[in-house]
Amino acid sequence: MNHDLSAEQVQILKTQCLQGSIVTGANVENALYGAGICAERTAITRCIMEGSKELQAIAILGDSAEPISPCGICRQFIREFAPKVPIFMFSGKNDDMVCKTLEELLPMSFGPEQLQ
Ligand SMILES: [Zn+2]
Repeated sequence: MNHDLSAEQVQILKTQCLQGSIVTGANVENALYGAGICAERTAITRCIMEGSKELQAIAILGDSAEPISPCGICRQFIREFAPKVPIFMFSGKNDDMVCKTLEELLPMSFGPEQLQ
């Protein structure tokens, strides 16, 4: 995906993720796995609760060798609340980064328009 951020700004974004200086979320596990919630949805929910409905970007950082991508439920959640923002996916083990649009991650998605 083309985005307007420089390599330095992308690195700052990753650093802010690591430091938690931006609205962050974390996986909240539950013994009943289906009742857990992913970090992406936690962070977006925090944004909404705190009145920040205009997200600028989403950054996802996992403890994996490959850049980590949002699960299917989170892709659908992003579709509802931040369908146009760049989604930066980082590896926590190295400098690998992938940036995609939601359209690339969730083509032919279902959204509020289909409910009208
Ligand atoms: Zn998820």
